[in-house]
Amino acid sequence: MFDKILIANRGEIALRIQRAAKELGIATVAVHSTADADAMHVRLADESVCIGPPVARDSYLNIPALIAACEITGADAVHPGYGFLSENAAFAEVLEGHKITFIGPKVEHIRIMGDKIEAKRTAKRLGIPCVPGSEGGIETPEDAIEIARSIGYPVLIKAASGGGGRGMKVARDESEITHAYTAARTEAKAAFGDDAVYMEKYLEKPRHIEIQILGDGRGGAIHLGERDCSLQRRHQKVWEEGPSPALNAEERERIGAICAKAMQKLQYRGAGTVEFLYENGEFYFIEMNTRIQVEHPVTEMITGIDLVNEQIRIAAGASLSVTQEELTIFGHAIECRINAEHPTTFRPSPGVIKYFHTPGGLGVRVDSAAYQGYRIPPHYDSLVGKLIVHGRTRNECMMRLRRALDEFVVDGVDTTLPLFRTLVRNHDVQNGEYDIHWLEQFLKTGGIEGK
Ligand code: ADP
Repeated sequence: MFDKILIANRGEIALRIQRAAKELGIATVAVHSTADADAMHVRLADESVCIGPPVARDSYLNIPALIAACEITGADAVHPGYGFLSENAAFAEVLEGHKITFIGPKVEHIRIMGDKIEAKRTAKRLGIPCVPGSEGGIETPEDAIEIARSIGYPVLIKAASGGGGRGMKVARDESEITHAYTAARTEAKAAFGDDAVYMEKYLEKPRHIEIQILGDGRGGAIHLGERDCSLQRRHQKVWEEGPSPALNAEERERIGAICAKAMQKLQYRGAGTVEFLYENGEFYFIEMNTRIQVEHPVTEMITGIDLVNEQIRIAAGASLSVTQEELTIFGHAIECRINAEHPTTFRPSPGVIKYFHTPGGLGVRVDSAAYQGYRIPPHYDSLVGKLIVHGRTRNECMMRLRRALDEFVVDGVDTTLPLFRTLVRNHDVQNGEYDIHWLEQFLKTGGIEGK
């Protein structure tokens, strides 16, 4: 087992990783930018190293500074968290070159899944059902027209290096295709420095359902059920729950088994998520994330498995702590991503948290690095914390979430808490009747009253 882990991240996920490391008896090293000198992840770590100025490019994304921090502190492994360098194959490779363990998948798998065209090809080969679309990239507007004709409209043009819902354009008929193609390419180039795009059938009313998997890197792999992340704004997840209110036991078993088998064939190592769109009883692969995800606590609450603990143990060469047969799904969990943003305009609201009170009680978990007096820096994402609630049934979970949201107090900055208080009382949400467009439509029709 490792003696010391350096956590190449900040905020709640840095704390989350520290917790898992400490429970394994492993010392922790925090890294931070100058803007995060007072951050909770720095205060609670055994050691900390300042790695650069506020802008992430020069600190949290600064590979030489991170390697130097490992060498100064003698860390023997690095956990990248999510975002930042978590899916950067070059970072994993450089660490390996320095004999430091990257707590994550094999370099080749990060690389394959980071290129969505290659990822789809691999998924298909492994027997995972995919969204109908172009076989590879699209090179010209004429190509785009021809492929769209064969798939049938509407179609979606997506960036091969895409992430965070950017670089996606819909074309509803042939008159829109050239524009969609050009716009997607330009946006992809600007956002990711890579203008490769591909095409998929645009699904009109799907749900976003993703399967959590764990692999030992030697052909052993299991699935840990699904999360339903259909409540999205601008293709970004807002509310996640598991099990999905839309799936029956047979569908759950079928898609879980397909993913576990695929990961066994791939000899995948570590935690990963296979993401699908789900419509009319069918699953369509869209991408695979080769890291721990923001919404991983949903799965932890319904399985009792500490996913970060598993990641660390797997990286140290251990086997999975649970077999598929031993794993059981118990009850229901929901996660709300609470951002420092205005609840109706979603304008970021950095500033000082004047008062901070988190809810508690049975089945309530708050993953947050915020505290009273904390100044939210403007340089990073606006996540204040995640509220995760568990209940024996979905109904119990919803009632518990309602009261936990009412207990939560964050003063001094705007937060999206009022949005969640509205959602938890909404008829469609209560009935689990929503698809990936539901929240956008709800917001457009003025469904939420501001604070
Ligand atoms: P990213 O890596 O940018 O998050 P994804 O491929 O995971 O991109 O897609 C993000 C979201 O975009 C999905 O959850 C879904 O809401 C929407 N989306 C992606 N592909 C399609 C599609 N073929 N049809 C309809 N919606 C899609």
